Amino acid sequence: MKKQLFEGNGVVLRVGELYLKGGNRHLFMNAMVANVKRVFRDRDDISVLSGQGRIFLHGACDEDVLDRLRWVFGISSYSPVVFCKKDIEAITANAVSLATQFHGDADTVFRIAARRSDKSFSHTSAQLGVEVGSAVNVATGFGVDLEQPDLSIGIEVGREWTFLWTEQLKGGGGLPVGTSGRAALLLSGGIDSPVAGHMLQKRGVSLTGIYFHAFPYTSDGAKNKVIELAEVLAKRQKKFKLCVVPFAKVQEALRDAANPGYLVLLYRRAMIRIAERLAEQDGIKALATGENLGQVASQTLENMAAVEDAATMPILRPILAMDKIETINIARDIGTYDISIQPFEDCCTLFVPAHPETKGTAKTAAKFESRGNWHEALEEAIENTEVIML
Ligand code: ATP
Ligand code: MG
Repeated sequence: MKKQLFEGNGVVLRVGELYLKGGNRHLFMNAMVANVKRVFRDRDDISVLSGQGRIFLHGACDEDVLDRLRWVFGISSYSPVVFCKKDIEAITANAVSLATQFHGDADTVFRIAARRSDKSFSHTSAQLGVEVGSAVNVATGFGVDLEQPDLSIGIEVGREWTFLWTEQLKGGGGLPVGTSGRAALLLSGGIDSPVAGHMLQKRGVSLTGIYFHAFPYTSDGAKNKVIELAEVLAKRQKKFKLCVVPFAKVQEALRDAANPGYLVLLYRRAMIRIAERLAEQDGIKALATGENLGQVASQTLENMAAVEDAATMPILRPILAMDKIETINIARDIGTYDISIQPFEDCCTLFVPAHPETKGTAKTAAKFESRGNWHEALEEAIENTEVIML
């Protein structure tokens, strides 16, 4: 840590699961520091510091700061802190000040949770608890309860910092984005695929988005909605590439070749083929979708198997087994729900009857495909793919 932290406000970030990563731990810490710095690059009043297994923000910790931290994955919890001089008087004064800011009454109970990682400090953790605790008790009249306090005052005395806190907020959890490789997410305008993307980012996967746009059957509004969804996911990564594939001609070619009941399945197989080609161009080795088992006719196990037959890459389906209500809750939480429910056309309903095939087979799909002249349309779609960098 270059800068000594003796005064002012900030936030301490606690890394949870990262501790499990043994020898790779420094790689995860570096990735997290880089991600935190990126999230705050437009905030000149905030500096990001790290050292001795800790990451700090130094500067004002307003609502905006705390809110942004929720979506930095790899953080298990975080606390607004006040830094102070490493001496017992300063620590005590700050603890008393935090306690008097707490809206307590005669029944309020508190505890001091002290930790001393700098073993050369004059007081042990236990001595800190006793000495600071009695000063707080005298100043406020609050009683002590180590088990179930209304107010917990944390104190940490490290080599290069000393800080106190009272509040602990839940972090995004998971692993820093970028530490688990990359995947190409088939991103539609629906509720599910953005949530699937969120889940993968939370596990450290960095994403590219691929949207199949059936212009002129689907409107610019449908495309803009997907861009808006991609922007939410883009905030968690360094850069986010969104590929918009003009899909209508592929769909028309398939329509001319197949039984309409099979079209959804054939569209999906074509999407997978195109997505793999686009992914390959960037050295990406996995696809991801928002598919959910049994939710709609096209998402039966039979049809998934028939679609996957067209793939050579693994297809990740992070929300496969989630209930719709769980998915919706996450969508609301991450801010994609209100975007997703805007009513726009969906390319997969194009030319499709009310009751599409639910028990498709790869063999029949391939039979229809062998009749059609869709290959050229597929090459053209790849060629004409629009790339939007977010
Ligand atoms: P979503 O809410 O993500 O659209 P859904 O429950 O509506 O999902 P489908 O429309 O059947 O389900 O799509 C299943 C998955 O296929 C989507 O989650 C997405 O990954 C992919 N997909 C479907 N349509 C498109 C599209 N136009 N562009 C990109 N991916 C798509
Ligand atoms: Mg959909």
